Amino acid sequence: MSCRRDAGVYNRGMEQDIDRTLYTREQIDRRVTELGAQIADTYRGVSADLVIVPVLTGSIIFVADLIRHLPFKMRIGLMTVSRYRGATTEGGATQILRDLTVDIKDRHVLVVDDILDTGNTLRTVSEQLRERGPASLRLCTLLRKPSKAPKDLVADFVGFDIEDVFVVGYGLDFNDHYRNWPDLSVLRPELYE
Ligand code: 5GP
Ligand code: MG
Repeated sequence: MSCRRDAGVYNRGMEQDIDRTLYTREQIDRRVTELGAQIADTYRGVSADLVIVPVLTGSIIFVADLIRHLPFKMRIGLMTVSRYRGATTEGGATQILRDLTVDIKDRHVLVVDDILDTGNTLRTVSEQLRERGPASLRLCTLLRKPSKAPKDLVADFVGFDIEDVFVVGYGLDFNDHYRNWPDLSVLRPELYE
C-alpha cells in the first residue's frame, strides 16, 4: 500500500489512540501476497468453480487485497455475520444478518474472515454452508488466537497467529471505528474500559 505512515490527514484522529502495532502495513502486504500464492496453488485447475465467501464486515480490506493475488476467474458471495457488540470478545450467539446470494452447490468454497477467536463465527458459517452441498469448503483467516481457537476447527490458511489481545485496523473495528487504520494494532487500554 502506498500511503505514508506520516500522512497526517490520513491518520488524524486515530494515531493518538494506538498503543502499539503488531503488524505494519508492509508486513501485512507481504503475508497477504504469500497467502494469495498458497491459495492460487490450491485452486489451480478448479478455479472456475471457486466462490470466495468473505465474512463481513471485518474481512473487507483483507479480502480485497487477497483476491487480487488470485490469477483466475472466481466468484464472490457476501455474508454478513455479527457476534460482538463493542470491545468485548465474549460476545453472544453468532447471527447471520445477510445470507449469500450465490449458489455454492458443487462449487469450491473458501470462507475468508478477519480473525479466528473462539471459532464460533467460523463454525456457524461453515456448518450452514456445508448443508448446501459445496464440492469443498476451506477456511482462511487473517488472524488466529491460538490460545482460544478450538482444536477441532481447522483453518486451512492463516495469516498470523497472535496473542489474546483485541486488535484493530486493516478492516477490524472497535465500536465500528478504526477499520481504515492501515496496520494491525492495539488501542490504548483506557479506550477499552
Ligand atoms: P469468534 O466467533 O471466532 O470468537 O470471533 C470472530 C469474530 O469476532 C471476528 O470475525 C471479529 O469480528 C470479532 N473479533 C474477535 N477478536 C477480535 C479482535 O481482537 N478485534 C476485533 N476488532 N474483532 C475481533
Ligand atoms: Mg468478523
